[in-house]
Amino acid sequence: VIPKNVFYARRDNHCTKCEFWKGACLKGHQLSSPQGCPIKKFDPINGADYAPDRPALEAPAVPPPGNCCGKGDDELKPMSWAQAITHLKDSMAQWERDGWPLLPDASYQARVNRCQDECPHYRWFQCRLCKCFVFTKAKLPHETCPAGRWPV
Ligand code: SF4
Ligand code: SF4
Repeated sequence: VIPKNVFYARRDNHCTKCEFWKGACLKGHQLSSPQGCPIKKFDPINGADYAPDRPALEAPAVPPPGNCCGKGDDELKPMSWAQAITHLKDSMAQWERDGWPLLPDASYQARVNRCQDECPHYRWFQCRLCKCFVFTKAKLPHETCPAGRWPV
């Protein structure tokens, strides 16, 4: 894991302005890795090399609303409280491993709009499927919508 100030400088000065950024690097660079940008927009640190310059992945397509994993909204079952607590612990551990990144504002707002404006599972700031507070959960890049409604 790299120092937080390096992580934020990479993200804010380069990646969020880059054509290959869609909430994550489409060329597969992990911002928390010491490797440099695959197209040399920022340097490696700690003696690492630049990450391999792979072909960019397609940005994830927006799935049809309520059609996650081939299931309709009525078939998606809310997590139990025990499952939700385990999910929260795992998610916090993942966030720490990634170096505490936060989603850029535009991508965050796109997620929150899906929750607030389009989703039958949203109630009082909370997702009824995973029991998370969506305004917090949506800030975490590694998190996903359990109904497949988020654009990133
Ligand atoms: S190509 Fe480089 S600057 Fe662009 S998103 Fe990936 S790591 Fe960031
Ligand atoms: S996270 Fe997904 S399922 Fe939960 S409220 Fe938001 S859009 Fe709906």
